Amino acid sequence: MDKTLLEQLKQKLLEEKVLLEKDLSSFAKKDPNMKGDWDTVFPQMGEAQSGSHSSLDESADEVEEYENLTAKEFTLETRLAEVNRALERINKDGFGLCQKCGKEISKERLYANPAAEFDIECS
Ligand SMILES: [Zn+2]
Repeated sequence: MDKTLLEQLKQKLLEEKVLLEKDLSSFAKKDPNMKGDWDTVFPQMGEAQSGSHSSLDESADEVEEYENLTAKEFTLETRLAEVNRALERINKDGFGLCQKCGKEISKERLYANPAAEFDIECS
């Protein structure tokens, strides 16, 4: 693969990694025991009003908020894992090859998504 393109794609991946980690760390904590795993922190909102008549509604909101964040965490974590795998492939020289059939993935496809793991036929 063209070195300049590879550098560009690597840069894109590194930038995306930083953004994903920043986004994740705004509401989740890195699990120190499991590499690449993040845990959503239960939201601490509404604490000051606990005991008031609205506290039941607030806990329902908190649970809903927590579920939304957990879903978001899953999406971001999955994408981050893809980005990390792509960066590993760059370091090991296997970058840009379909992980199923081993053919080269088209430049256009990689440019649109540098973390792509399969060519069009296999995806
Ligand atoms: Zn393939």
